[in-house]
Amino acid sequence: MKNRAVSSIRDLCLGALLLFLHTQVVAQTSQERPKVITTVSPITNIVQNIGGIHVQVIGIVPDGTDSHTFEPLPSDIKTIQAADLIIANGLDLELPTMNLAKKVKKPQTAILQLGNNVLNEEDWQYDFSFPRELGHPNPHLWLNIELVMGYTDIIRDHLIALNPSNKTAYQTNAAIYRDKLQKLDQAIFKCVETIPQKNRKLVTYHDSFAYFAPRYGMTVIAAVQPSNFSEPGPQEVIHIIKQINHTGVPAIFGSEVFPSKVMAQIAREAKVKFVDQLSDDELPPAPNNSFIGMMASNLTIMTEALGGDAACMAGIDASNNAF
Ligand SMILES: [Zn+2]
Repeated sequence: MKNRAVSSIRDLCLGALLLFLHTQVVAQTSQERPKVITTVSPITNIVQNIGGIHVQVIGIVPDGTDSHTFEPLPSDIKTIQAADLIIANGLDLELPTMNLAKKVKKPQTAILQLGNNVLNEEDWQYDFSFPRELGHPNPHLWLNIELVMGYTDIIRDHLIALNPSNKTAYQTNAAIYRDKLQKLDQAIFKCVETIPQKNRKLVTYHDSFAYFAPRYGMTVIAAVQPSNFSEPGPQEVIHIIKQINHTGVPAIFGSEVFPSKVMAQIAREAKVKFVDQLSDDELPPAPNNSFIGMMASNLTIMTEALGGDAACMAGIDASNNAF
């Protein structure tokens, strides 16, 4: 009887000790996961899909915020100081954040600017919203899925360099993600094929389809938003209405992040549909809360509005790898 009591006390102590050790290990693991700081939601989501459960990814530009005018908050300094790797889109999209990061990051922490690594400078695009004379190129590379496949490879390689012990996991995650991107890329081509040739034209408010259009056989007729992100002037509005009438596009597009009264007015006067739901940096709600989900939503909206068949997006897997 006495022995049994002693042994159950011993079991209890052993159990408590094991629980304590387990808690310590779990706490240590989450502390030891490399901290990767990212910027806009699509980039954050792409990094999460490749890093999976092995990295802690913190995006500092809140979802649905205008990433072009975003200025980091004083509270972001602490986050950036703790970073083991900083991943941004680049091409000057996140200039204030990059300037701050260079000042406050740990000396050994690398800053990876994806766009600057996948696209040679001679292929950077300048246009009405991003004029060459201001020196900042159009940064929206991630709407071109071929370029995002390039982003995936670069992110994978940098995560492996940062944390070689999880090399296999990063390789597997990147391969799964690349496969999903490949299917998305092919589906976008199919969507565009269903749009009557004469309608494969984009008039958008925010100028985010500059790298998308040439890949998928569309033409950007006009992007309305001026380079200082204000509303266009009356001359510009008249010019755009003429262009719409001349080219015969059936719909023009805006986004929720950039509400524009002028765009609605242009649509009324040009007698075309105005669809204000395209997105370049706000992810859709669950269950499609992913970069791939955002693109599937863009293509569904665009294809339907331009007279195509949005069934092209039906088979797209917008789920995330576990993270
Ligand atoms: Zn944008």
